[in-house]
Amino acid sequence: MTPAAAGSTVGTKRMWANGPLRLWSPIRASGCQMPLANSGFGGAYVCGACLVPVAGVYRVFDRLQGQQSWFCAMCKNRAK
Ligand SMILES: [Zn+2]
Repeated sequence: MTPAAAGSTVGTKRMWANGPLRLWSPIRASGCQMPLANSGFGGAYVCGACLVPVAGVYRVFDRLQGQQSWFCAMCKNRAK
């Protein structure tokens, strides 16, 4: 899965203030099939550290940024 594929409408969007990043597209697109309440279509969540789309993200305290963030399992374990 390549979020920045040429010609793709798919980017990333933060779901709410200090919330997780998610693949997002203004129109239904490959990888973004789920209609969202606000607008557009959502896909996989994206790790706030390595920026890779993953099946699930975990809420962690990011010491580098001094705020709550959302990491994949690998980055979560590294941030401990
Ligand atoms: Zn990660």
